[in-house]
Amino acid sequence: MSEPSERNRGFDCENSVGRECRGMPGVVLWNAREPAVWPRPPQEMTVSTLLEIETCPRRWALASADYPEIWAGHGYPPKPQISGLAGSAVHLALETVTKALVHAGCTSVRDAGAVRLMKSLGGYSKVLEDCVDRIVERFVGNPRAAHLLENSGSSLRTQIPELRTRAQVLLGRLRLLGRKAIADRPSEAKTRGPLLHGAFSEIELRVPRLRWKGRVDLLILSDDECEILDFKTGTENDQHLFQVSVYALLWGQDVELNPTGRLASRLRLAYRAGDVIVTPPSAAELTVLENEIVTRQEAAERAVAKKPPDAYPSADNCHSCNVRQLCDAYWGPETQEQLAMIADENQFSDVELRVIGRHGPSSWDGVIEFFCGKPGVVGKRCVLRASQQGLDCQTGMRLRILHARITPTIDGASQPPVITLGVNSEVYVVGW
Ligand code: SF4
Repeated sequence: MSEPSERNRGFDCENSVGRECRGMPGVVLWNAREPAVWPRPPQEMTVSTLLEIETCPRRWALASADYPEIWAGHGYPPKPQISGLAGSAVHLALETVTKALVHAGCTSVRDAGAVRLMKSLGGYSKVLEDCVDRIVERFVGNPRAAHLLENSGSSLRTQIPELRTRAQVLLGRLRLLGRKAIADRPSEAKTRGPLLHGAFSEIELRVPRLRWKGRVDLLILSDDECEILDFKTGTENDQHLFQVSVYALLWGQDVELNPTGRLASRLRLAYRAGDVIVTPPSAAELTVLENEIVTRQEAAERAVAKKPPDAYPSADNCHSCNVRQLCDAYWGPETQEQLAMIADENQFSDVELRVIGRHGPSSWDGVIEFFCGKPGVVGKRCVLRASQQGLDCQTGMRLRILHARITPTIDGASQPPVITLGVNSEVYVVGW
């Protein structure tokens, strides 16, 4: 094993996990280690947590554990993805405008009052700009996002006309209760209390008896209707039907907000293409649903109580996994065949290699130990190339590289394939 250089000495240290390479924003050498302490099962369950655990318990656990050696935030630092950030910005804009409409007692965005309101907010574009800033700010302090923040922000800002249209389409169909909406609302109550009549945005439903909670985008209560509305910035999905049905259950069982146990009379999923009206569960169906979520919750808690929790590798699960660099199941040989379909059409893929020597000023020779979806190339030579100066690999390092560009096509090539690092690539040290 070679002596670590001054620049990389930290990788040999128990408490150091990596650092950004000077002069090379975008390429960071991290140590990829499982958490020192696996997280405990969630104290309260939500639909998204349940679905995440059911999809892959290991993924939930790796993402939820604390990594104090990396940062002060909770969980593994997420990598910003532009498509996800765009959806978050639209959703935040919907939340902002809906809340303002409710407070102003508007019935729709076409009210004269709503027009004045939007002017006071600076217009849709200004609202979107503010939301983009707030979304990007959430990544400040995230060491995995530091080099991407500027690009992410400017990329999102170029999309504002499109994001504004998405928000306007959804808001254009919104019908509220006007002045009646604010008649019985506790004034921005800090304490939870009965909700009688009105429109309530971003309401958290809680059922301590079940240890479940959920956040509803909009709850509209009138004499005739009790409607739960959820904005959806993606495409239709059966999980959304389950989610809004669980909201109906939680609303009916939330003894603080709904002490009379009033049932939801309408469930609405608001997509860009149109609203989907879901028939609310009857009292008998709610009982069945309650039993189902309790059973699934217990199974999920058992799954994440294992140390480590089981991993469910699959093309769908692993392709978008934010913590796959930490997951030995993903990088194991038996998973490679299964993941062949992940290999990116644009030749971006994940590679594990061992550095065997320097090739040039910013390139190294290596031996492939894993090539996502191409197990046949394991053991072959390759060249790792950084497009800028700054990466400081050492002979003997075993690296996991996410989202590297592979050229030429590895099959049948007479020359060793070249693995090139780009701005989205991440380099993790897993052994030395
Ligand atoms: S890489 Fe795949 S198997 Fe591993 S945690 Fe992620 S989703 Fe699960």
